[in-house]
Amino acid sequence: MKAKAYQLVEWQQAPELREVDVREPGPGEVLLKVGGAGACHSDLTLMGIPAGFLPYTLPFTLGHETAGWVEAMGPGVTGLERGEPVLLYSPWGCGRCKPCRMGSENHCERVSELRSHGSGFGRDGGMAHYLLVPSPRLLVPLGSLDPRDAAPLADAALTPYHAIKRALPLAPGSAAVVIGVGGLGQMAVQLLRALSPARVIAVDTASDKLARAKELGADDTVLSEDRAAEQIRELTRGMGAELVLDLVGSDATLKLAAGVARQRGQIMLVGLGGGVLPFHFMGVPQECQLVAPYWGTLPELMEVLALAQTGRLRMTVERFPLEQAGKAYERMREGTLKGRAVITPHG
Ligand code: NAD
Ligand code: ZN
Ligand code: ZN
Repeated sequence: MKAKAYQLVEWQQAPELREVDVREPGPGEVLLKVGGAGACHSDLTLMGIPAGFLPYTLPFTLGHETAGWVEAMGPGVTGLERGEPVLLYSPWGCGRCKPCRMGSENHCERVSELRSHGSGFGRDGGMAHYLLVPSPRLLVPLGSLDPRDAAPLADAALTPYHAIKRALPLAPGSAAVVIGVGGLGQMAVQLLRALSPARVIAVDTASDKLARAKELGADDTVLSEDRAAEQIRELTRGMGAELVLDLVGSDATLKLAAGVARQRGQIMLVGLGGGVLPFHFMGVPQECQLVAPYWGTLPELMEVLALAQTGRLRMTVERFPLEQAGKAYERMREGTLKGRAVITPHG
């Protein structure tokens, strides 16, 4: 069968909507009819990377936040039903090393052999009518959730969940700062509310993003500007925050993170902004930990899904047809998306 896919064809060139062949699933494979594929800021970073930097073979289809319906199963696949809604775990590892067996395919030991980081990162992703999934182990049943709303759980929620879990428990009276309340940040605010009693302080350069963060449960909002550090210190009675999630990662936001973290606090650098934080004894609060978390595990994806199924995570989704994928990324670049752009190839 012929179908369309939004693919990275050349490094540092705009991706292209191309006609591709969709083959029948082979032994152990599952063909997914894509319901939704979220657009992540990391895709913009990926599009700008020069040739030779990553070991990926081009072309491949973009999209690492994918949900849909089981369309067909190859020989030997059991435990799924045709038409069943499922969420895809996109960090595809070898499936056999110890981290993979424990569900941490984001930490696969054979990643250099595989020459990819998974679906949408070197292997085909979800911005297509159909996606061939190499194993049913990578699919989680969605239950009553609509794949078009649930797709962002696979990264925008999973990544901050993985980061926040490392920092728990946060005691009553503690504070957590979320810098950058876009796709990941809006989930981070809700996850902190669901998982901890910490006071949640949202920071962004855009006031509409701050208003949305407040609706989603942030206790306080602070505009990212010169006075931000001072305001956050005031909000935390001069003590600073136990946890700072930097979902931007620029020089300015890292400086802010180090300026508002508390002694023995934690700074999680999630954003790929490429900024640098000088690490020296006086440069960070005493005994503060710095971590650069990467994506999340399959059991964590199931936990995130359980939170969404009980209504504790709301997705702010703007839907775009597959033909408008380029437009979705343009809106992300301009900063005019309300939350997550989700490509819906089947409407
Ligand atoms: P997004 O574009 O949806 O949101 C970014 C937000 O940051 C926007 O609301 C924007 O207004 C805000 N912002 C920009 N500059 C700011 C500043 N100086 N101060 C405060 N806020 C600012 O992006 P996203 O898809 O949520 O991704 C966030 C970051 O996380 C990206 O850098 C992405 O590449 C990265 N990421 C990392 C991982 C990982 O595993 N480490 C996984 C997914 C995404
Ligand atoms: Zn991402
Ligand atoms: Zn592995």
